[in-house]
Amino acid sequence: MRIEEFPTDIRPRLIPAHAGRMVYRCLGCGAQFSIEELLYVCPECRQVLMIEDLATERLRQTPGSLWRRIFDFRRMLNLPALKGIYRYHEFIGPVVPLEAVVYLGEGHTPLVAANRVLRDQIGVEFYFKNDGQNPSASFKDRGMASALSYINAKILRGDLEELLAVCASTGDTSAAAALYGAYLAPRIKSAVLLPHKKVTPQQLGQPLGSGAAVFEIPGVFDDCMKVVESLSEEYPVALLNSKNAWRILGQESFSYEIAQDLEYDVSRTAVVVPIGNAGNITALMSGFLKFYEAGIIKSLPKILGVQSEHADPVHRYYLEPDAAKRRFVPVTVKPSTAQAAMIGNPVSMPRVIHLVERYNQSAGRQRVFFAAVSEQEIMDWQLTANRNGHIACTHGGESLAGLSAARRRGIVGAEEVAVLDSTAHALKFSMFQEMYFENRFPPEYRICPRPELVNRPAFVRPADLDALPAPGAPLQGEEFQRFVRRTAEEIAARLNLKKRQPTAGPTGPTKGS
Ligand SMILES: *Cc1c(COP(=O)(O)O)cnc(C)c1O
Ligand SMILES: [Zn+2]
Repeated sequence: MRIEEFPTDIRPRLIPAHAGRMVYRCLGCGAQFSIEELLYVCPECRQVLMIEDLATERLRQTPGSLWRRIFDFRRMLNLPALKGIYRYHEFIGPVVPLEAVVYLGEGHTPLVAANRVLRDQIGVEFYFKNDGQNPSASFKDRGMASALSYINAKILRGDLEELLAVCASTGDTSAAAALYGAYLAPRIKSAVLLPHKKVTPQQLGQPLGSGAAVFEIPGVFDDCMKVVESLSEEYPVALLNSKNAWRILGQESFSYEIAQDLEYDVSRTAVVVPIGNAGNITALMSGFLKFYEAGIIKSLPKILGVQSEHADPVHRYYLEPDAAKRRFVPVTVKPSTAQAAMIGNPVSMPRVIHLVERYNQSAGRQRVFFAAVSEQEIMDWQLTANRNGHIACTHGGESLAGLSAARRRGIVGAEEVAVLDSTAHALKFSMFQEMYFENRFPPEYRICPRPELVNRPAFVRPADLDALPAPGAPLQGEEFQRFVRRTAEEIAARLNLKKRQPTAGPTGPTKGS
C-alpha cells in the first residue's frame, strides 16, 4: 500500500523518526559506554553488556494502542528496510538509519498450529514458530541483521573502511554471519571458528559457500569461544557472537512477532525456547519486557527454557529454589542431537540471571521456567512433530519435549497456548534423523530408535527383470513396458494395493447425470 493511502494518524509514524540514545550498559558494575566503539565486555570489569535506549520515556509517550496500530499498518508498507526485524525499529535499533538496514528476508516466520493428533499427544494447543524459514535457515539471522546493519551504518558514515568479522559457532551463527558478511563484501570479510566434527555437513557448507575463511578447531564450542574471544581482544576484528549485544537486539524481534501475531494478547501464552549460549532466551525476555513497559502488551507471557540433559547448566542453576544459594557451575557437555545448543558455559548466563529476576518481578509471580530433557525425548518428539506436518529441527524437538515435560509437571496448563521455537530447519540436522533411522547412534547419546518412528527407503528391483534402465542408457519398447509394469506390480504388492475393478469406461453412464 502507498503511503498516501494509510490513515492520516498513522502516516507520520510509518517511517520511524525516533532516533534513540543507545548506550552499552554493563551488567556487572552498571557503567555505561558509548556505542561509537565496538565493545563486547565492560572495559572496567569484563562483564557482558546489554544495549539500552536512554530515551525510552519518549517511546512511552506513544500509547500502546497506537504502537499496535503502527506495527499492524507497517505490515502493509512496501519498504524493504522495514520488512524484516526493523518493523519494530524504535525498539530494536533506533540509531540505525534505514539506508543502512541490511535486509535479506529475515524475520516474520510463520506460526504453524499443531494438528489435532499432535495436540492431543501433548495435551495443550500449540504452534511451532518456524525460525528455520529464515534466509540461512536459523533464527541467528535476526541477530546478524541487527549487528551487520549497525556495522553498515558505521561504514556508510565513513567510520569504518573495512572489517574482519569473526565468530565461534555451533554451526548456525557462522552460517548467518558469513551470509550477512558476504552481502556487505568487499567491505566485510568473515572468519568463522567451528568445533571440528561438531557441526553438520550442511552447516559446514554454508560459510564455505558464502566465501568465509573457515577454521575447524579441536574440542567443543566452549573451546572455540575462548579462542575467538582472545582474537577479538588482541586483534582488530569484530566479534559476531551473541556476546555482541547488537545480536540480542535483533533477536528480540522473535518476541515482538509473537505478540503481534497473537493480537498483542499473550496472557495465556507460554513461549518455549531451547537454550545453548542463552542469547535467544535473553532476547526473548528482554523483548517482552520492552513491549510490556511500553504498554503494547498487557501481561508477560510464560517462558520455558529447555536444555538437553547433556548440556544443561542453566537448568541446573535454577534447580536451587533459593536465589541466594544459587551458584553457576559450567558443565562438561556430552554429545547432543540438539548440537547447536551443546554449550556448557553460556556466555549470556549473567544476562539470564539479571533478566529472569526482572521478568518475574515485573510479572509479580514466577513466569520463567526451565526444563531438561533426554536425548531420546528430543529425537522422538522431533520425528513425531515432523510426521505431523512440521519441519522442526532437533532443537524444535527439544522445545516440544520440554513442553511435554512442562505439561506433565503442571508448569503449563491445558488452557494455555504454547508457541515453540523451532530454531532451525530440519534439513540442517538430517544426519541425526538418519542416525535414528539406521540405529547408528554412538552409545553416549543413549538413543534407542522406536520402531514406529523409523522410516527407510526400499529399493525395488523385480528379480525377474533382465534389463534395467540406467543413466544414459534408457530402455526401449517391450523391455521398457515390462520394466514399468513389473516395477509397478511390485510396489503395489508391497503397499497391499488391490487392482481397480474394471469400470464401464469413460463413455459409460455416470451416476447422477
Ligand atoms: C544457536 C542455536 C540455539 C541456541 O541458542 P542460544 O541463543 O545460543 O541459546 C538453538 N538452536 C539452534 C538451531 C541454534 O542455532
Ligand atoms: Zn562493568
